[in-house]
Amino acid sequence: MNRLDGKVAFLSGAARGIGGATAKRMVEAGAKVVIGDVLDEVGARHAQSIGATYVHLDVTQEASWAAAMDATIKAHGKLDVLVNNAGIFVGKGVEDASLDDWHRLVAVNLTGVLLGTRAALPHLKKTKGNIVNLASIAGLVGSQLDPLYSLTKGGVTLFTKSAALEFARKGYRVRVNSIHPGVIQTDMGDQTFVSRARNLATNDVDAVRDIARKTHPIGRLGVPEDIAKGILYLASDDSAFMTGAGLVVDGGLTAQ
Ligand code: NAD
Repeated sequence: MNRLDGKVAFLSGAARGIGGATAKRMVEAGAKVVIGDVLDEVGARHAQSIGATYVHLDVTQEASWAAAMDATIKAHGKLDVLVNNAGIFVGKGVEDASLDDWHRLVAVNLTGVLLGTRAALPHLKKTKGNIVNLASIAGLVGSQLDPLYSLTKGGVTLFTKSAALEFARKGYRVRVNSIHPGVIQTDMGDQTFVSRARNLATNDVDAVRDIARKTHPIGRLGVPEDIAKGILYLASDDSAFMTGAGLVVDGGLTAQ
């Protein structure tokens, strides 16, 4: 189950966090893995430690995607899986976020996904490969912490379905699915605790983390490996009948 033997996978934003854990799982599942990130030192170190390759990638730049895809094809000859994982969170309300904050969110969370999809598509058409997009529970239900983040992740949710339909109509046999994590303990997860604390006018981030934990019926916060396992399933042939779908991995949060 969930094997990627002989497959080549590219993951954006995988120097750390969910992408970092997924890259590791994919190597263990038999894939050749390439990581692209802006955190060059951290990314190169992580890639070396798990047996992956690192390339510099700024997902907001078309030329950067072209170079990353060229490097992947040069190293491994093909591409089977793209994970559009890079994402940012600003943690500010509608009245507090600046226009620059919004433009940054759009550039990474939306333009990054579009550019990645376009850059990888010619290669995925050849291998009948697939794309996994990191959306969020904030792309399914509202987020009182960061409505602008939610606006971008809602876009990722519906772009996933639309791209899946377009590629199916054109006969490409390229599947596109999304994954929707609850609160996961990563650097971004920590950012959500800090904004929650600010909203509650407290400095007690541990107490706030406990409040966040209690919103997850399963009784704990998520860890990157929880999401990595879901991404691996979507990327593998075990999910061959899934396209345009969203896999919710949120400890029951949105079941309420
Ligand atoms: P993280 O902050 O730990 O990692 C994000 C990675 O993206 C970092 O390595 C960062 O350098 C990279 N990145 C940022 N801007 C980039 C750019 N312009 N080009 C290339 N790389 C860039 O976050 P994470 O928690 O691992 O999040 C991974 C994905 O999961 C994101 O899309 C996020 O929105 C989504 N997500 C996270 C949570 C959570 O609670 N942590 C919940 C739902 C969804």
